[in-house]
Amino acid sequence: MDSRIGVVGSNNVDLITYIERMPKPGETLEAPDFAMGFGGKGANQAVAAARLGAQVSMVTRIGDDLFGPQQMQNFRENGIDTTHVLVAAGKPSGVAPIMVRPDGENSILIVQGANAALSPADVDAAWDMLAGCRLILLQLEVPLETVYRVIELAVRDGVATILNPAPAAPGLDLARLDGLTFLAPNEPELAMLTGMPTGTEDETLAAAQTLISRGIGQVIVTLGGRGALLVTGQGSERIAPVKVKPVDTTGAGDAFLGSFAHFHAAGQPVAEALAQAARYAALSVTRRGTQTSYADAEAFKAFCD
Ligand code: ATP
Repeated sequence: MDSRIGVVGSNNVDLITYIERMPKPGETLEAPDFAMGFGGKGANQAVAAARLGAQVSMVTRIGDDLFGPQQMQNFRENGIDTTHVLVAAGKPSGVAPIMVRPDGENSILIVQGANAALSPADVDAAWDMLAGCRLILLQLEVPLETVYRVIELAVRDGVATILNPAPAAPGLDLARLDGLTFLAPNEPELAMLTGMPTGTEDETLAAAQTLISRGIGQVIVTLGGRGALLVTGQGSERIAPVKVKPVDTTGAGDAFLGSFAHFHAAGQPVAEALAQAARYAALSVTRRGTQTSYADAEAFKAFCD
């Protein structure tokens, strides 16, 4: 069975500043530390899956600047197939300035750059490869029309899809997600998608159930340090968190979904793959950075033992 994972999404350069507290408007503060890293939700999820041993193909656009070739090299170093990594002529790379507080909480800005140029035509050009994937991972850091095109073709050809609707997009049209296999929001994203409150677990469950009735196969709600909730047409199941001391939660959601894609594509049932993903994401929050915090298969095994 082919367990290849396709990722159609973004890549960014993370510019990470470690801060004591958020600056107030107009205030200049000294920050104790800074680091650069490879990021973007698409690339992060691809790297998490690849480090665990998945065969991953990335469909993305890199900038026509000094970061572009470095992104390409990063994909290759992580063993990711770059046949469908294209340069966006004349565009800068996507960048993400990130601020991380001592308690691990983060604030993120996204500059789309080349990611805004990933088009439905790019999806069509990559479809022969994508149609052979076991799972396709999607997020919302590329144009919505590009995401809709993947879902349309995947539903037509019976390919499983996971959409992480992040960052929250007010313009996302639920009707065009009909037939999606998995939708994986966090609580604020779920609230925005449904227009329903997600302040309590009962409210979160009710909101997720409305998505099932709108044609989504299964909903995976990530709950940060509280774990996750799986909602299907048959019922719901809590995925317990794995207790760790958080150092930096940046990219925990991407670690969770990239690793879930790997475990599920490799044959694990959904709930089991989610429990493994909760372990993988917990390990990532004990390490600094985004992709730098993603363990390989060996380090993950050592953490689990
Ligand atoms: P992000 O914060 O990366 O944008 P997100 O909000 O989608 O993403 P979270 O819900 O914060 O993602 O985290 C995803 C998963 O990671 C959770 O479902 C949980 O399993 C794990 N996780 C996150 N934070 C912690 C933590 N503090 N302790 C243990 N596990 C955690």
